[in-house]
Amino acid sequence: MLRIENLVCHSDGKSLLDIEGLHVKGGETLAVLGPNGAGKSTLLRAISGDCGYDGEVLVHGRSRRNWRSNYLARHLGVLPQSSVLTFPFLAHEVVSLGAIPLKLSQRGMREEIRRVMKLCDCDHLSERLFPSLSGGEKQRVQLARVLLQLSQAEESPLLLLDEPTSAQDLGHQHLMLRLTNQLAREGYGVISILHDLNHTLHYCKRCIVLENGRVRYQGRPDDVLAPEHIGEIWNYRPTFGWLQDDRLVLA
Ligand code: ADP
Ligand code: MG
Repeated sequence: MLRIENLVCHSDGKSLLDIEGLHVKGGETLAVLGPNGAGKSTLLRAISGDCGYDGEVLVHGRSRRNWRSNYLARHLGVLPQSSVLTFPFLAHEVVSLGAIPLKLSQRGMREEIRRVMKLCDCDHLSERLFPSLSGGEKQRVQLARVLLQLSQAEESPLLLLDEPTSAQDLGHQHLMLRLTNQLAREGYGVISILHDLNHTLHYCKRCIVLENGRVRYQGRPDDVLAPEHIGEIWNYRPTFGWLQDDRLVLA
């Protein structure tokens, strides 16, 4: 559903990103890993068209440059690392912004807003002023907005998540990861920037590691996250252990 060919991003003559090839299928969750400044957010910004690039980003085989903006909005959703919204909207009004590219009756809109807010465990925040919410609550309301935006996709939608667990408490980190895997089972393609390598091991079948704007490693997390790779990339030597069900854990 997503194919990237020779994607290059520059700023002031400095190369920020240089990716020869990358693909994501519907039904797949790809984790994007790498140290701070590696180019992870730049990759998502290039895919979503928020920064200029050379090369090709193909969504369902067609260059994203040729998609009508309304159609693209129903098929490509982005949860940014952080968002600034100081206007005193209620949380459910922020979610309703996701309906701009959709066709929904008033009643359908209310039901869909409730459904996506439940999925993101933020329906209880519906009547709260968005600027008064905590960072994690805001992030879940924003995810609900993105899920609403993708709810009428005619082809499998692509969901881009920039550190979706960064502001979440332990329980909500796992809720976000379970939810993205559930969406993938429904056919979504998901690209998720993660910092927690245990989350990557437990929830993702494929990952890439970026370093200086290039793909340094890619493959199954079990293979990619070998101790020598972690040492090279993050300058940290983890301790390894196994849970009772034989899942690998790093500390
Ligand atoms: P991360 O992997 O932490 O998400 P980013 O993709 O945000 O990294 O940034 C990658 C590198 O590109 C960093 O060194 C950052 O400072 C630089 N960068 C990002 N956006 C710009 C920009 N608009 N202008 C100049 N440098 C940028
Ligand atoms: Mg980033």
